[in-house]
Amino acid sequence: MSYVQLPDSPIIGRNLVGGEWVTPTGAEMLDVRSPYTGGVIGRVPMTSAAGVAPVVEAAKKAAEGWRAMGLRDRTARMMKFRMLLEQNLEKLANSAAREAGKTIGEARAGVLKGIEVCDFALSVQNLDTGGALEVSRGVTCEFKREPLGVVAGITPFNFPAMVPLWMIPNALTVGNAFILKPSEKVPLTSLLLGELLLEAGVPPGVFSIIHGGKEAVEGILAHPDIQAVGFVGSTAIAKRVYTEGTARGKRVLALGGAKNALIVVPDADPVFTPQAVVDSFTGCAGQRCMAASLMVAVGDVQPIIDEMVRRAASMEVGPGMGALIDKAAQERLEAAIAKAQSEGAKVLLDGRGKKPSGAAWAGGNWMGPTILDHVRPEMESAQKELFGPVISIVRVPTLTAAMELQHASPYGNAASVFTTNGAVAQHVVDNSRAGMVGVNVGVPVPREPFSFGGINDSRFGHGDITGQGGVDFWSYLKKVTRKWTARTDGSWMS
Ligand code: NAD
Repeated sequence: MSYVQLPDSPIIGRNLVGGEWVTPTGAEMLDVRSPYTGGVIGRVPMTSAAGVAPVVEAAKKAAEGWRAMGLRDRTARMMKFRMLLEQNLEKLANSAAREAGKTIGEARAGVLKGIEVCDFALSVQNLDTGGALEVSRGVTCEFKREPLGVVAGITPFNFPAMVPLWMIPNALTVGNAFILKPSEKVPLTSLLLGELLLEAGVPPGVFSIIHGGKEAVEGILAHPDIQAVGFVGSTAIAKRVYTEGTARGKRVLALGGAKNALIVVPDADPVFTPQAVVDSFTGCAGQRCMAASLMVAVGDVQPIIDEMVRRAASMEVGPGMGALIDKAAQERLEAAIAKAQSEGAKVLLDGRGKKPSGAAWAGGNWMGPTILDHVRPEMESAQKELFGPVISIVRVPTLTAAMELQHASPYGNAASVFTTNGAVAQHVVDNSRAGMVGVNVGVPVPREPFSFGGINDSRFGHGDITGQGGVDFWSYLKKVTRKWTARTDGSWMS
């Protein structure tokens, strides 16, 4: 197989507890299947809610020593971790690709983004200097950044390396003990991250892994010693994790799903735009929270749509485009396309039933690029996140109508405009209700230090998950006020 290397035999994943790899007693083992072949590539334990306690216990023991180690020594270890990520780039990318159905290029980019977050975290020691001020004679106030203690991150299937790495570098560098609960659909890349953190000299217990699903999440939310929870996943679960976590007094930042509008106006570049739109909705087989899944076509953009269809139709379905995570996702998407069609959408390009040739891929979960035109705003395919290589085109007469459509969405992750007119671009930047906005960029993911995060139903809680927002989320600022008396009557002073 030229795209991903599958393991010779299934990888047995264990929880990482106090620096040891352990299988929780009595836990059911779950098969991990490759989206490319349907074959079993690993097995991990499904930790029960009660199984969370020993992991937290070990993390709690390690947290104080890690905090006391001080920023410089922690940073030195995280610097080594960053170097190990770079050295193991291909190994990590292959692991993420084979369990999530990603292309190697996309998986590599995810690890590189994680390295970028490390670079930002490594600058924390520069960012946090100089926060003292003499507020009145003899009285000084200063900020002292403190970790929260034991914190946890719960992550989705679509970025097995990148999303954990949105959290780990900042959370660890500021001095927390971090527990990762990866998606049970893609738990294997986290094993590599655990090995690399131990190799980097991060002390046992400072980084832990709990495998599992709903029950493990419930155990995390219920545990009184977990101070903060970062979550990335679908909106329904994000909302639940936020509500239940905050009700128990935890700090929670929960990033949810998206339905990103990509507005194309008649003056958009006719060559560049179609390719950028196709790349956006087909990349990672459409399983990105930043994918453009709703194209708002303003006025006559027919030549651009025609070109999109031509380019998307020429794409080869298979490992070069990425696979869907599981059969359930494939069936859900096929049903959504059928529903849109029955409601009056015109299927310009139908990806149903498209699959690569070759016996090796026969058990994979495949779908080709699908373009639905004349979708009406009230239809499910215009409103719901479908999470596959499907774009719904809604046609509107004016930019004002396009903005109204963008505003009608409960989500607010990203919005993009394709235009050659600066004023149009500025209007969309100023007026779109989204956390991340692109101008002639189909996947407007900001680079660090510009942080990642949406608004509305795409993000519950305050702040962004990376950049300064990440550092602030995983720490608190202690305000220290010092006053020194001005007595000079000690005999030794004069
Ligand atoms: P998901 O919500 O099904 O799962 C996310 C995590 O929640 C996993 O670790 C999973 O084990 C856990 N989980 C699942 N069901 C649960 C339940 N009932 N109770 C408690 N925990 C539960 O999401 P997914 O399918 O893995 O990922 C795709 C979704 O994630 C999409 O909606 C996508 O838009 C979103 N996403 C958002 C961002 C962002 O930055 N906003 C980034 C990546 C993915």
